[in-house]
Amino acid sequence: MANCVYCGSLLTRHQAFAGTTCDHWRCREKRLNSQLVAHRTEAARVLAVTRPERFPIAVVPHGLQELVPLAAGSRLMLAGFLHGLLDAVAEEADPEPSAAVQDPGDSPALAAHLGRVCAVCRGYCCHHGAAHNAFLDRKTLLRFQAARPDLPMDGVIAVYLDLLPDRHCRDACLYQGAQGCVLPRGMRADICNGYECGGLKAARASFDPASGGYAYVAVRHDHRIQRSAFVEDQVIRPYPVDDPTQGPAEGSRSAHDDSPDG
Ligand code: SF4
Ligand code: SF4
Repeated sequence: MANCVYCGSLLTRHQAFAGTTCDHWRCREKRLNSQLVAHRTEAARVLAVTRPERFPIAVVPHGLQELVPLAAGSRLMLAGFLHGLLDAVAEEADPEPSAAVQDPGDSPALAAHLGRVCAVCRGYCCHHGAAHNAFLDRKTLLRFQAARPDLPMDGVIAVYLDLLPDRHCRDACLYQGAQGCVLPRGMRADICNGYECGGLKAARASFDPASGGYAYVAVRHDHRIQRSAFVEDQVIRPYPVDDPTQGPAEGSRSAHDDSPDG
């Protein structure tokens, strides 16, 4: 007979075998928070980071890193998709600039901070861009063209195709290159510019402009903390330090970076 360490309810045999908490979401959340704090403490000890409590915790998913050459067939498929958008009914046309392209509330420091959080994640959400042609749509193409009225639509498509990287992340969006999205912000779909996972929202909420930005980014996958990193000002300190799967210390793999508006 054992009881949940948080709510005191009697544990089932299975729960008692698995640990010391019940399955109520509040208790599971407390258990996760406890694990995250312990992980941060251990990482700080190894990396000699003082006062780890300065680093608010942000939990992000685990993006893949392996790069593969851009296949000719993938390029052709995207070209076909983009040309198909040209033939779409004109009622979809909306050349109004998207409010999501550039958040006017984001200072350069905040945008860079969020970019570093995404860099630790390695752009998990861009994985979904593979099945959705980088989320591109007619409206996005028209928005891009609106700033270049001399450019015909097939010229717009040529610009998009020219920007495809030689290598992209396996099973992810074709535009996800070694250092993140290669499309300028102004050429990305609204969802690419606006999406934030829970971890990124947490990093945004805890950002302190006076400090330059602190975060402890925990990468969670399969219900486990796989790796993590301290983000401090312009530095990313990965833990474990010898993790061969760690990405570059700087740069973003996602929609959130400080790349120029295009
Ligand atoms: S928003 Fe950033 S941190 Fe969240 S899944 Fe996408 S790349 Fe990762
Ligand atoms: S942000 Fe860039 S890499 Fe990610 S899904 Fe959008 S276009 Fe693809």
